[in-house]
Amino acid sequence: MNYWFTIVLIPIVLSLGITPALQTEMIPNAEAVKSKGNSLTEINSKKVCGDKLCSEIIDNKKEINKSTIMTSQKGLFPSTMDYTVTGPEINPEKGYAVIEIGDGLYWVTDGMYQIMFLTTGEGVILVDAPMGMGTKIQQAVSEVTSEKITHFIYTHIHKDHVGSASLLPQDTVYISHIDTAKHLAMKNDPQRPVPTVTFEDQYTLIVGDQVLELYYIGAFHSKGDIVISSPVHKVIMAVDLFHPNAAPFQFMGIARDMGEHLAAHDKLLAMDWEIIISGHEPILGTPEHLKFNKEFTLSVLDNAITAMQTTQPSANYFGDLANRCAELTLEQYPDLKDIELYPVENCVTMVFYAMID
Ligand SMILES: [Zn+2]
Repeated sequence: MNYWFTIVLIPIVLSLGITPALQTEMIPNAEAVKSKGNSLTEINSKKVCGDKLCSEIIDNKKEINKSTIMTSQKGLFPSTMDYTVTGPEINPEKGYAVIEIGDGLYWVTDGMYQIMFLTTGEGVILVDAPMGMGTKIQQAVSEVTSEKITHFIYTHIHKDHVGSASLLPQDTVYISHIDTAKHLAMKNDPQRPVPTVTFEDQYTLIVGDQVLELYYIGAFHSKGDIVISSPVHKVIMAVDLFHPNAAPFQFMGIARDMGEHLAAHDKLLAMDWEIIISGHEPILGTPEHLKFNKEFTLSVLDNAITAMQTTQPSANYFGDLANRCAELTLEQYPDLKDIELYPVENCVTMVFYAMID
């Protein structure tokens, strides 16, 4: 860590002009900092469906929704809740498990990564295609349906979750937030085809007898992060926001904007759902898991602020702050899965958020 602080933090500190003399002036009001990322913000109500305003097609959509939902009676299977406690057995030869968690809604996991797909009667909608799962994705789909994949949704830009997107049939419709499309156009990466259907705030995807609502609630993790909701199943998918029943990946899940990251918890908790597919871990998530992660995140923020209020200026001030914050966090959550992996890295993100964001 000393090396890391030397090559990364010191240049940042110098470039920001932060000197030990200023350190005490930068200690924030704890409640003011916490409230920045803790407000209940309504999802932007401006609705864009592809290249049309949703208001232009809303009446038609309502009719379709009514007929499909009333005739299909889709829902979540009660047995699905078992997977919020213990993950499914994964056949080591196959390397994944594919499970129908609601009518026509399938969850696929290799124990580390998670995706979902829906059969619609008119083709499969696939959400995410992790680089490491490759051709296993098509294999999982073929296990349960003869329908071919017709639609693909990017949850966000990151290749580890979408790097097998190019392995899909050539006429697949690729859908994403506009920021994901811009990023992928800039990257020109053959493994991540540039989406042709994009949206800014909200998009409704209707294929056959399935309806998905896609929302942008802010960049809670990377760029173009979206929430995919199947209202009839009460299932949502939001990837890399949190790990159910585990500590975050390093630097608070590599969150680029801690304010958006924290606020996303409240925005999701205000929605109506029972299961969240988080992209990682062997289990499915629940609102309780998400509430716990919010509590954990606010505790790390508290610990960063406590460290700032009690640590004396020194040559390694930021290192001292992160280390003290990590000690406090480890004392509070000794039994949380993976807590020991990145306590200092997570505190580095929180110290910078509390101090200079
Ligand atoms: Zn990611």
